[in-house]
Amino acid sequence: MHQINEIYINGQFVTPHGEELFDLFNPATAQPIGQIRLADEQDAHAAIKAAKQAFPEFSRTPKATRVAHLKRMHAAVAGVEAELTQAIIEEYGAPVSRAVWMAKHAASVLLDAARVLQDYDFTRRIGIAEVIMQPLGVAGLITPWNSNAGFICGKLAAALAAGCTAVIKPSEMSALQTSVVTRALHQAGLPAGVFNIVTGRGETVGAVLSTHADIAKVSFTGSTAVGKHILRAGAETLKRITLELGGKSPVLVLDDTDLKKAIPMALQAGFMNSGQACIAGTRILVPAHRLAEVERLIIKEVANIRAGDPQDPNTSVGPMVSLKQWQRVQAYIQMGIEEGAHLLAGGPGLPDECTAGWFIKPTVFSRVTNQMTIAREEIFGPVLSVITYKDEAEALAIANDTPYGLQAYILSTDVKKAHTLASQIDAGRVLINTLAHEPLAPFGGFKQSGIGREYGTFGLEAFLEPKSILS
Ligand code: NAP
Ligand code: MG
Repeated sequence: MHQINEIYINGQFVTPHGEELFDLFNPATAQPIGQIRLADEQDAHAAIKAAKQAFPEFSRTPKATRVAHLKRMHAAVAGVEAELTQAIIEEYGAPVSRAVWMAKHAASVLLDAARVLQDYDFTRRIGIAEVIMQPLGVAGLITPWNSNAGFICGKLAAALAAGCTAVIKPSEMSALQTSVVTRALHQAGLPAGVFNIVTGRGETVGAVLSTHADIAKVSFTGSTAVGKHILRAGAETLKRITLELGGKSPVLVLDDTDLKKAIPMALQAGFMNSGQACIAGTRILVPAHRLAEVERLIIKEVANIRAGDPQDPNTSVGPMVSLKQWQRVQAYIQMGIEEGAHLLAGGPGLPDECTAGWFIKPTVFSRVTNQMTIAREEIFGPVLSVITYKDEAEALAIANDTPYGLQAYILSTDVKKAHTLASQIDAGRVLINTLAHEPLAPFGGFKQSGIGREYGTFGLEAFLEPKSILS
């Protein structure tokens, strides 16, 4: 059993003032695997104080010093890749192929930030003004359980590159990953207080970060509901706030596409990260006259998608992170049936091979209308909707008829047409015939998918404030 009794404040591993114990589970077995002692408000205050003390000196470090810090942090996290992969599988249940990618990503975002910083000019001339980009202050970084290590490293990398100091509140369900990453980052030997990691509840530690006067900036990834709450809470002190929230991403399968290639890619986009992905392509939009063909292909393809033991390299859909998430996804499957959608694959209950664990059958509903709840709300599990359109104008209208706008996918052999459609979709990213990631391009949402952008220069500038000096 894992016992985690430490948080990280002012360069040291310390026992939290908080006394609440929180159980950790292996979602693939639903068995407890350990306990963590949670930080409380007092711990959050101590972490903010340390970060505030470290800020004046750190904010004035030369760019080269911070580049060197980021490179050492990258090397340190890369050095624990295998351990981090196992932690991700054990406490989150990501299938091994995904977990390997997630652990690599946690390291690579640090190197990406070092490269961005290297090329970034903190001063520029505009007319008679010298414009200086100045770090905001202490940043509060709040991460979700679906990509905890990646967001700890990614948000921290951008904050430190800018010259901010940070207090991180990771998801408590991800305490094993946080522990591996914290130990590695400690090895990188940054000045004390530059980053602090306090694992505690959102309602306690998270609430302090979003209200404390000494926090200048909050960068949050998680649910839209909590994002709105943080925005309201931060308004009192006018915090700069970056929100990366939910999605209901459309996958536009155009009439010219080879469905034999497009359907497997659409399913991969939908079931990525076991469906627990803000960018998952959960609304598959297909030409009405090709529905029968699409349905046949989906039934055939889903039969080959394995949900089960995350350690098995053939598995592509792992369990939901918690019983609460499992119940939530089950409720949406039930709702789809009650709303009259046609159940094409999957359905309620555990997959046949699974007797325990929080597994969901990879589920696809067809003949869904865009007004059904399963097409409007983020389910955050492997449950997809097929919606038909009669022409491209209608496809575009359906794609944009959502409160979200994080990502969209277009599958077409007509690249010119795909680009024209991409320009008309309200989403922060549009992927044409690919599931690739570009770590230097901005990432974030339109509409209720968020505010602001992460990664690359845009992500760096989210931790900076411009100052014009005229003489
Ligand atoms: P959540 O509550 O938004 O959790 C995200 C992070 O915010 C966690 O670290 C959480 O801490 C923290 N938090 C919660 N309340 C807070 C508050 N009042 N102030 C500051 N921080 C706070 O998400 P969830 O409840 O775990 O998941 C629910 C749904 O959110 C999912 O089903 C999914 O639809 C969506 N979601 C989206 C993403 C994404 O990548 N966009 C990620 C995760 C979840 P606690 O762990 O203590 O609550
Ligand atoms: Mg929550």
